[in-house]
Amino acid sequence: MSSRLCRACSDWHDLSQPWPRACAGHFKRSTEARSSLPRPMVISDYVDCNSPVSGERFTSKAELRRHYRANGVVEVGNETIKPRDNDEDDIKIAPIEREVAQAIESLS
Ligand SMILES: [Zn+2]
Repeated sequence: MSSRLCRACSDWHDLSQPWPRACAGHFKRSTEARSSLPRPMVISDYVDCNSPVSGERFTSKAELRRHYRANGVVEVGNETIKPRDNDEDDIKIAPIEREVAQAIESLS
């Protein structure tokens, strides 16, 4: 039996059992490196790369994106992933049931 010390209740929990809901706080991310004081998050404009379009060197994300727009380049990577259009509702059950019944019939 392996167990793990819970950071929420300071008790040991058996890992072969589901983790207690009351102790979900155990998995909460808490690092001492991060202050609890609220502050603005700053994302730097700095980048150091060459344009795949012209090979020109850029040190500003804003300049690079302006360059992309001017050249009709679409930057990808942060778009929201849409659910696939293969809902279970699209699959008709009746034909599957009929084929399974025929297969069972052919065996007996
Ligand atoms: Zn616990």
